[in-house]
Amino acid sequence: MTTVSKEQKRIGIIGAGPGGLTLALILQRQGIQSVVYERELHDTSHERGGTLDIHEESGQRALKEAGLLEEFQRIARFEEEDFRVLDKNAKIYVDEDSEAESGGAGTRPEIDRGVLCDLLLRDLDQGTIKYGYKLVKAVPLENGMTELHFENGTVDTIDLLIGADGAFSRVRPLLTDADVDYSGLTMIELNILNAAQNHPELAAFNKRGKMFALDDHKGILGQLNGDGRIKVYASLKVERNWLETSGIPFDQPKEAKERLLDLFSDWDEQLKDYIRYAEDAILTRRIYMLPIGFKWNYNPGVTLIGDAAHVMSPFAGEGVNMAMYDALELALAIARNRDDYAKAILEYEEKMYAFSSVKAQESDYSLQLTFSDNAAAKLAELMQSFQEQFEDQ
Ligand SMILES: Cc1cc2nc3c(=O)[nH]c(=O)nc-3n(C[C@H](O)[C@H](O)[C@H](O)COP(=O)(O)OP(=O)(O)OC[C@H]3O[C@@H](n4cnc5c(N)ncnc54)[C@H](O)[C@@H]3O)c2cc1C
Repeated sequence: MTTVSKEQKRIGIIGAGPGGLTLALILQRQGIQSVVYERELHDTSHERGGTLDIHEESGQRALKEAGLLEEFQRIARFEEEDFRVLDKNAKIYVDEDSEAESGGAGTRPEIDRGVLCDLLLRDLDQGTIKYGYKLVKAVPLENGMTELHFENGTVDTIDLLIGADGAFSRVRPLLTDADVDYSGLTMIELNILNAAQNHPELAAFNKRGKMFALDDHKGILGQLNGDGRIKVYASLKVERNWLETSGIPFDQPKEAKERLLDLFSDWDEQLKDYIRYAEDAILTRRIYMLPIGFKWNYNPGVTLIGDAAHVMSPFAGEGVNMAMYDALELALAIARNRDDYAKAILEYEEKMYAFSSVKAQESDYSLQLTFSDNAAAKLAELMQSFQEQFEDQ
């Protein structure tokens, strides 16, 4: 158990996603207590999101500071970094085999979101997280504190408020009028369970990692997860309200799959198997982003981390890494300025703005390229030029 001095001001973190959990854990290791308020009634991270790759320079640095790097390295999947890029005729443009190229010791190991959250939760002091606390309103008080109003009727007052509550943050409106924008991309999430046993040909085709089939401004993306499923994202450049206007009954998977197959009718049959073989419920996701380089008005008692601060499209694989890196920078800034949270926020925000705007730019560039004309060929060229730059160094 961490001992906490009586004078410590109250720190409230909204959201127990990867960002909020990493922040609470690093603070705890610095002897600083916080309370994490999570809207879900219990941990539901297993139900949300697929495999993430955790980068050495950001996510892994945060895990190191949280004392979890060794355990992470033990459970992460270093051998599942294969990457294939194809067009709609299944012509292959990129075929990276992580085992052959790095002996299975890549720098971007994979971990499922739920497993990552379990790892972070394991070492947090009991009672740090309050489940069933959905923030509905945060009210600034004259003394600089913030009053938190929760849907369950509770009201709490804290000195430092950190919004780690994702893309649709309820904390963000305290700092800015800016809001997220629809990126133009809608993703339909499907699951092929036990792919190796149930559909060995498709599992072999997908290989151990990711498969991106891109053409006609759309995509079928496959991603092997740690529990043996292939998570599939049928991705479409469509109007924001397409989910409603398409008339596809996404709550009736059998019919919805037929309708989705119609949208990819001239695509290779094996690529269409990614939709045909899917079981389970279908999830729909509109992809949102904040403006690149977005900054808010400085407030000495409130800040944001992760998607709440800079939600970006998932096409540079940076979202979770940025959330954890923000958590690291903010926790260390608070630890350096224990009596002056206002200074801690200034130090953190300066670094975060510089770092995240570069990543947001990269993500946006990747998104545009992935759904442009001849996308498979362009992505292959881009990867080739990265490879040549790397070899020249
Ligand atoms: C389809 C898709 C694929 C992705 N793939 C990748 C990838 O490959 N690599 C990658 O790095 N990133 C990826 N991302 C992005 C990544 O999932 C996010 O960037 C990351 O989860 C952000 O972490 P976070 O902690 O900031 O927010 P979140 O993970 O969104 O967590 C926010 C938490 O706050 C809680 N919350 C929300 N509102 C409230 C409230 N009012 N009161 C209390 N609690 C609240 C939520 O329940 C949740 O637990 C992907 C995203 C999508 C949509």
